[in-house]
Amino acid sequence: MLLTKLEIKGFKSFGDKVTILFDEGVTGIVGQNGCGKSNVVDAIRWVLGEQKTRALRSDKMENIIFNGTKKRKPLNLAEVSLTFKNTKNILATEYSEVTITRRLYRTGESEYLLNNVPCRLKDINNLFLDTGIGPDSYAIIELKMVDDILNDKENSRRNLFEEAAGISKFKIRKKETLKKLEDADQDLARVEDLLFELQ
Ligand code: ATP
Repeated sequence: MLLTKLEIKGFKSFGDKVTILFDEGVTGIVGQNGCGKSNVVDAIRWVLGEQKTRALRSDKMENIIFNGTKKRKPLNLAEVSLTFKNTKNILATEYSEVTITRRLYRTGESEYLLNNVPCRLKDINNLFLDTGIGPDSYAIIELKMVDDILNDKENSRRNLFEEAAGISKFKIRKKETLKKLEDADQDLARVEDLLFELQ
């Protein structure tokens, strides 16, 4: 699976649309301090579904929308798209190219799209589960994450190995199933109460 393209518009310092094409091999982004290099990484993390504003180096989600410069007005929409070539069918979809898009409007509305079709964040999460790609995965490693792994903060080392071993999706499904069982138990208790009242 290859990361081939990143398109950013209205996200943080990117008032104009910027398209970054990734070739095979290593891609380096260079530029003077404060020019927006880390914002590129933030954009990737964000389109993959990051919900924690702290991880995006922002205090509130609205602040990831381009808020203007001396010469430019703020924008009302942030949009980031990330395209993968699904060469080895690592992503469980029939498409050989997958583009995920996230939009956030200043009104607070947000949208996720999979190959231009509106979808839920859950669909994107499911698609990337156990691929090593995701907002919390080891595909994006920032300086703070290196510290957390070295200090094994909040079981980060174990989580990293679980993601790499491909068992995260089973843990998530187990949690969802246990919740359904709990709900079914509650429904059963309610039915028993009703039966008792009727007798
Ligand atoms: P360094 O090399 O110092 O780490 P960098 O190239 O990684 O810097 P970033 O941290 O990516 O730079 O970008 C910081 C710039 O992004 C700042 O100039 C900041 O004003 C700008 N910025 C952040 N959020 C927004 C926003 N919502 N609207 C406009 N500009 C923004």
